[in-house]
Amino acid sequence: MSSWWKRQTLKLRLTLWYAAATAVVLGVFAWVAYEVVEHRLDAELDRQLRIDFDLVEAQLDVDATGKIRWLVQGAHGDEGFARLSAWFEVWSEDKQLLFRHWPVREADIKNPLPAPLESSLRFQTIELEEALHVRVMERPARLHERGVVVRVLRDESDMRRTLREIVEVFLLAAPLAVLLASLVGYFVARRSLLPVAAMAGQARQITSESLGERLPVRNPHDELGQLATVFNQTLQRLDNSFAELKRFTADASHELRTPLTALRTVGEVALRQGDNPAALRETIGSMLEEAQRLNDLIESLLTLARMESGKVSIAPESVRLAELAADVRDSLNVLATEKQQALELAGDDSVTVNADRVLLRQALLNIVHNAVRYSPPQTHITMSTLRRDGLACIEVTDQGPGIASEHLPKIFERFYRVDTARSRDAGGHGLGLAIAKWSVERQGGRIEVESAVGQGSTFRLLLPT
Ligand code: ADP
Repeated sequence: MSSWWKRQTLKLRLTLWYAAATAVVLGVFAWVAYEVVEHRLDAELDRQLRIDFDLVEAQLDVDATGKIRWLVQGAHGDEGFARLSAWFEVWSEDKQLLFRHWPVREADIKNPLPAPLESSLRFQTIELEEALHVRVMERPARLHERGVVVRVLRDESDMRRTLREIVEVFLLAAPLAVLLASLVGYFVARRSLLPVAAMAGQARQITSESLGERLPVRNPHDELGQLATVFNQTLQRLDNSFAELKRFTADASHELRTPLTALRTVGEVALRQGDNPAALRETIGSMLEEAQRLNDLIESLLTLARMESGKVSIAPESVRLAELAADVRDSLNVLATEKQQALELAGDDSVTVNADRVLLRQALLNIVHNAVRYSPPQTHITMSTLRRDGLACIEVTDQGPGIASEHLPKIFERFYRVDTARSRDAGGHGLGLAIAKWSVERQGGRIEVESAVGQGSTFRLLLPT
């Protein structure tokens, strides 16, 4: 059943739900109506029985001998109740039947009612004969010290017929009503779900080539409109990622091509120059330099790819920042000395953070490397470790060319370089700061820059302690 149910369209399922709900509501309504009517008819019948009782009681009397008699004599010498429409029995206290006026001839009575058992007010329904149900009321009455029990009866047939008619009307009307409700339900479901089909059709057309397309949003306030909006937002994100990926691929290809072109050109020139050993040695030297550059670039690209894939795991440990700075200085000292730059350490050497040492070292190395790369010879580069606003901080200050404010927000983007030729000459690919930013942010920290053209730059790595 459940698998059959699942295989049906939403339209059909909604319609069936609708029909079932209508049937239940109708059923409950009919039941309540039936109960109310039955109660009313019952009460009416009982009210009439009480009137009958009063009528009969008023006609009873006790004569001089103490015998109970009927007050009014009939015109034809019969007892006065012969033409009374009410049916009744009058029983004496010692369970003797005194009077009886019945709907059927006395001779036809198959099951005469037994004498009243108790002398108290009592209502009951009995089947007098086949298909003749009567409502019976027994009630004691007092006639000058003599007690009697009067039993009045009323035919229930009318009431039963009315109730039967109500049931028949319902049984006839209910299926029609449910059918009508199903038709309306189907129509409503179909109309409401029409936009879903349209959306599915539209969504089917969207490929990686047409990620710019969007689903139509008919009414942004209803559920389907919200669904379309959410879907469109997802498309927008996908579109952005795709565009970024394309840009990255183009940039990476371009970056890879430059050193390769240089390699080839240098090689061709060397081939043409013949076999001058000194010239050849110089050529091989610059070819190796280009090869190294290619290697560095590929290394950076691989690092970025690993970061993107989310496969870089973080192994936090206690890292003393001053120690890390000293380590970075040792790595870059040769380069700095070549440019006669002084790499200095300063600040509070007790500052410690809980961080991944490898990632943090990579970030600091890239920043200090930039400082060495872009600062002119005979300048100072300082790494200070300190605490700032409850964070641990390493500050790298140089006396380089500085960065104009319009470039500052962009230098952390991949392949972004303020001066492409200068950066390339200095051995940069435009990826160093992107990697540094990712490494620090991944650990809950951030990087800040302060710089102005001609006034040097200060990069700050801020980490939670
Ligand atoms: P690159 O490999 O080109 O150095 P980065 O992402 O490390 O790439 O840096 C982006 C750009 O930011 C650099 O090309 C450079 O123009 C600028 N930059 C970075 N650090 C400094 C600095 N200390 N002084 C001046 N400019 C800098």
